[in-house]
Amino acid sequence: MNNSKNILNYMFGKGAISNLSSILDKKVSDNSYVIYYIDEFFKNSDLLNELPINEKEDELLFVQTKVEPKTEFIDNFRNILVEKKKNMPKAIVAIGGGATLDTGKAVANLLTNEGNAEDYQGWDLVKNPAIYKIGIPTVSGTGAEASRTCVMTNSKSGLKLGMNSDFTIYDQLILDPNLTKTVPKEQYLHTGMDTYIHCIESLNGEYRNAIGDAFSHQAIALCREVFLSDDMMSDENREKLMVASYLGGCAIANSFVGIIHPFSAGLSVVLETHHCIGNCITMNAMEEFYPKEYQEFFEMAEKQGIKIPKGIASNLDDETYLKLYNSTVIHEKPLINALGDNFKEILTLEKVTEIFKRM
Ligand code: NAD
Ligand code: ZN
Repeated sequence: MNNSKNILNYMFGKGAISNLSSILDKKVSDNSYVIYYIDEFFKNSDLLNELPINEKEDELLFVQTKVEPKTEFIDNFRNILVEKKKNMPKAIVAIGGGATLDTGKAVANLLTNEGNAEDYQGWDLVKNPAIYKIGIPTVSGTGAEASRTCVMTNSKSGLKLGMNSDFTIYDQLILDPNLTKTVPKEQYLHTGMDTYIHCIESLNGEYRNAIGDAFSHQAIALCREVFLSDDMMSDENREKLMVASYLGGCAIANSFVGIIHPFSAGLSVVLETHHCIGNCITMNAMEEFYPKEYQEFFEMAEKQGIKIPKGIASNLDDETYLKLYNSTVIHEKPLINALGDNFKEILTLEKVTEIFKRM
């Protein structure tokens, strides 16, 4: 039976980020320096002036988001700190979307565990507790702030898998809905729908538990309120989506995803499609598996005036479809959760190719 761990401390509310300084002050540690990973979007923003950065000793590292995290990026970030002899910080603070939050988690694990990031892709491979870390999301939906994984792609093996571990969970969250004001509306919907998709997959799966279900139901209810309203980005709706994202992250810590995520992972590994837009594109072909949710998803996107891209995998060669097939069916846990032990009898190469062509 799962012995689930959740976030111990979180602070929620507009302007909550102003408490970062006092949270850091309370943390007792041998060293006093702090490492910041910040989404490159904030490079020249006022946000930097609001942070308690000590320019003499802290390290401020920007995270690019063009390409989603790879194991070698994480190794590089670790190496930078080792070279500067800054590898035992008092805290790691990550401020950004899922990519940045995952970077903070992965580096925090790697600083206290020898070897490279790829050595910890899997379940419960991290041996030592990570560096104390604080997560501050700036776009809502992935649930990366609450989950026990940090997704990375290993370019050599093509494996897209995180360090699933209790040590990966943030020690502290600051959930400040003011930070999501500047998210472009397409991105806001794509990322926000990640939580909707996690939760519908989980509720339609075989491996369920009552607590995971409760988190999922509430996250979906909030997504409906946000995406069926007239202004999905109003102050109130940005608050709601931030809560939905958090609850969705807790939900997947207690359950599994289903068919959409493995197909989206295929797009991501083979075509470098980003995670959240990849899920939305996959939805184009999901009517047969999730008919009610398919209807609702497109109703919500239409209500917000967001067109989901179509046709990115319609005209590829056989070799590419084979790669897509392989990087989809490798995700056995969620596919068994959705379709049972014999999922490969349903998802044959021919069937998987046809699904990719339809999206
Ligand atoms: P992201 O981190 O990839 O960022 C998306 C874009 O939004 C970037 O261009 C970024 O600069 C921009 N952005 C972020 N905050 C902004 C703001 N406040 N204003 C303007 N622009 C802003 O986005 P994401 O969709 O949150 O995360 C996707 C990543 O999360 C993927 O790498 C995926 O694998 C990972 N993920 C992790 C988990 C988990 O449980 N750890 C779950 C799902 C997805
Ligand atoms: Zn997801």
